[in-house]
Amino acid sequence: SSVIQNPRRIFKIIVIGDSNVGKTCLSFRFCGGKFLERSEATIGVDFREKTIQIDDEIIKLQIWDTAGQERFRKSMISHYYRNVHAVLFVYDVTNIHSFENLTHWIDEYNRFCSQSQPSLEIPRILVGNKCDLDLDQKVSTNMAQTFADMHQMPLFETSAKDDSRSDHVEAIFMTLALKLKNS
Ligand code: GDP
Ligand code: MG
Repeated sequence: SSVIQNPRRIFKIIVIGDSNVGKTCLSFRFCGGKFLERSEATIGVDFREKTIQIDDEIIKLQIWDTAGQERFRKSMISHYYRNVHAVLFVYDVTNIHSFENLTHWIDEYNRFCSQSQPSLEIPRILVGNKCDLDLDQKVSTNMAQTFADMHQMPLFETSAKDDSRSDHVEAIFMTLALKLKNS
């Protein structure tokens, strides 16, 4: 019965980080499992969309997620980073390597994203995922916060599986959406 309103603006958000940190689960969680388009075969990228209302504006968030096959990476990488509006850098709190590798992901982002859109202030968020596995936590909140401060982005610790005891996945994307809406 509700009228579907057309969003005035569409924002592209990319989710970056090692494989297995939970990138797909996070975007799936936020988008409510709704799977709109799958373009894996051609460009190695999945994207999901969610239309949300913030204050008085309807906007659409388009969340891009790498499909993970290394052989696709080289050909699709510049496509992936093109016209990005916001970035989530994701690590797994139980996997120290995924945290250490953030440096690599930030380097790649700087090479492809900042250089192609140098004038844009692109909102970025650091996400520590799998907080439900708190007994196995290897990356302390202090370590992550220090890293986040150094790179001037907010830190959220969450779980795509059970976010009831951590930052809500919804809140992470809504934080980005609010920044984008006011941009
Ligand atoms: P991606 O390779 O970064 O896209 O990672 P996936 O989203 O495919 O998740 C990798 C694995 O981690 C899967 O087995 C997920 O079920 C699991 N996973 C993802 N997020 C969480 C989480 O928050 N908690 C737990 N316990 N497992 C998770
Ligand atoms: Mg994935």
